[in-house]
Amino acid sequence: MTAESPRPLQIGRLAPSPTGRMHLGNVYAALAAWLDARKVGGMLRLRIEDIDTYRVVSDADSWIMDDLDWLGMDWDGPAAYQSRRLTSYDAMFRWFMTQHLPSGEPLLYPCFCSRADIRAASAPNEGDGFSRYPGTCRQIGDAERRRRLDAGDRHSWRIAVPRSDDDSDDLVRFHDEIFGPQAFSLSSQLGDVIIRRSDGVYAYQFATAVDDWSMGVSRIVRGRDLLRSTAIQLWIQRHCQESGQSHDAAWRNKTMGAIRRQPFFAHLPLIDGSDGRRMAKRFNSLDMGALRASGTRPQEVIGRCAWLLGVLPEATPVEAKDLIGAFSFAALHEDREDRILDAEM
Ligand code: GLU
Repeated sequence: MTAESPRPLQIGRLAPSPTGRMHLGNVYAALAAWLDARKVGGMLRLRIEDIDTYRVVSDADSWIMDDLDWLGMDWDGPAAYQSRRLTSYDAMFRWFMTQHLPSGEPLLYPCFCSRADIRAASAPNEGDGFSRYPGTCRQIGDAERRRRLDAGDRHSWRIAVPRSDDDSDDLVRFHDEIFGPQAFSLSSQLGDVIIRRSDGVYAYQFATAVDDWSMGVSRIVRGRDLLRSTAIQLWIQRHCQESGQSHDAAWRNKTMGAIRRQPFFAHLPLIDGSDGRRMAKRFNSLDMGALRASGTRPQEVIGRCAWLLGVLPEATPVEAKDLIGAFSFAALHEDREDRILDAEM
């Protein structure tokens, strides 16, 4: 930051899960994050979200990087791998273990419920895959909890959210550039989410919140299916902030200032196939491997995604870099419906 530019450096991120080849829906989201970061003159970090090693497909990280490169989208600094950041998560987890809610309850508590227990007791989810845990293990008394931990009973760790919507901490508010003002009740819409699974793997919500915080991410652009997750991630980040643990040394100087404020959020409408199926990896004809093999040019893929983003009136071929100047989320803000896409390009 120079004396002439008092604005803190903006940091965006691409956070793909290396579970397969990118498809058009992933490219659409990546293009939005890339254009947003470049438009504001910010940095863009690439974070490979490979924390859930059971779901990782070997080499998918290289395919993603190669496809981004082929599409004309770059990033700053080396790619960060969640699987190599375990010591950061461990340190933050240990801090969280020492924390309490204003009510005196511990911030984290062990949950001994099986998946079947939770399914039976949870509120039905509202279409984004989120089911609210009813808090069964939060009621366990200290002595019983100790006994079960000492006995080695299998358990995950959950983060306790305020108990009722009367609590002033309960409502998490944030502004979304596309969906407008958002407010989620932690107690009634999120519940006590898992921070560390019973197999010891840190959960997506925790790893991502810790990473966004420690990398000083100030701009988050991703699918609207994560709108609700944003509320719990902000709750997690609030505790990260209180930890006083430093940001990653390499980014610390560049990011001070950017981290104090809530990030900028833009949650994108999702892309469905024309048969109504969510664009998933099984939608092979639009995965990058198939597109490239069929001779599709990068400019055609970018043009199609730019049209989906409302940045171009028609899906005409274009270079990603030529879209930076005119980029905005205004068209998506006007029309937030999920997009339908034919299986053909
Ligand atoms: N890794 C997630 C995905 O590929 C994205 C998570 C995020 O943007 O926070 O769906």
